[in-house]
Amino acid sequence: MKNNKKLRSWLDKFNLDHPLVIAGPCSAETETQMMDIAEKLKDSDVSIFRAGIWKPRTRPGMFEGVGAIGLKWLKKVKEETQMLTATEVANANHVKLALENDVDVLWIGARSTVSPFIVQEIADALKGTEKIVLLKNPVNPDLALWYGGIERLYSSDIKNLGVIHRGFSTYSKSKYRNNPEWQIPIELQNKFPDLPLICDPSHICGRRDLLQDVSQTSLDLNFDGLMIESHVDPDNAWSDAAQQITPKVLIGLMKDLKIRKGTFKEESYLNKLAKYRTKIDIADNDILEILSKRMTIADKIGKIKKEQNVAVLQSKRWNQILGKMILDGKEKGLSEEFVLKIFKAIHQESINHQKKIINS
Ligand code: PEP
Ligand code: MN
Repeated sequence: MKNNKKLRSWLDKFNLDHPLVIAGPCSAETETQMMDIAEKLKDSDVSIFRAGIWKPRTRPGMFEGVGAIGLKWLKKVKEETQMLTATEVANANHVKLALENDVDVLWIGARSTVSPFIVQEIADALKGTEKIVLLKNPVNPDLALWYGGIERLYSSDIKNLGVIHRGFSTYSKSKYRNNPEWQIPIELQNKFPDLPLICDPSHICGRRDLLQDVSQTSLDLNFDGLMIESHVDPDNAWSDAAQQITPKVLIGLMKDLKIRKGTFKEESYLNKLAKYRTKIDIADNDILEILSKRMTIADKIGKIKKEQNVAVLQSKRWNQILGKMILDGKEKGLSEEFVLKIFKAIHQESINHQKKIINS
């Protein structure tokens, strides 16, 4: 896709001096619930009211959305609050119904983005639309699949396109429901600098206490907006209860966000610095994660050594590792002195871990 400046125009039309905010319940449940939430959000910085009416659920038998009746409730929200409305579409029939009922923003969910067939079906059904279309990243950390979805929508002449970063599912446990893997949206942003990029902290975090921090990180990385789930009675929500917050808490969260002024075009020195510092923080965090993983493996080796009654220090193996790391490091622009220092320290920490295990 070409770097098309027109892509930003739908976002610029909102004429905001703060990031775009899309908020509302994970799922539409009842008309009263929808109107209640919308009423409490309408005088805030929220521009677009979201509610899922067709819900993709991992396991059958869970609440799968109220279906088409929810479109009437979205219409009522728009009439009574002037907020625009947004819902998820996952097939051509959803698109047809959402367009007939004048939903303003249609988003494609993470479970749909993984399937080129589904994205193509939706792209065909949306052909030439003036509506805003937002594509979430695929569930798995596959940048090419995300690009592919953007290309399919763009080829369908969808002018008002944007993307949503909602994190990636991983096999290993982490504090997030879906790992942010910030380097992936950053890469996407570098490739398509004019494609509006929205962060969905709710689905990244999966829990309320992390929302503020993830929202702030996304703004520090120059994201254009946020999509946050909000419910009047979060604990009793019919889906994603643990991650939803009340409108009041959401308004507080927005108030506490530090917004760095300055546009993409003329980023100030300080903005640039803040953006790179955030990237450094993320990289440092990744280094710690990897070191901790390495020590867990060393512990496992320690257990085997204990069972076999062999010495902790295996000099021959260690010299081989070191030689290889010095060569690999050189290729990556790291000096021999630095690589030696780092790996000696890592090795010493592994030995300390293993000694503890052998003496336990
Ligand atoms: C949602 O926004 O409620 C949703 C189902 O999101 P995702 O596709 O990111 O899981
Ligand atoms: Mn949800």
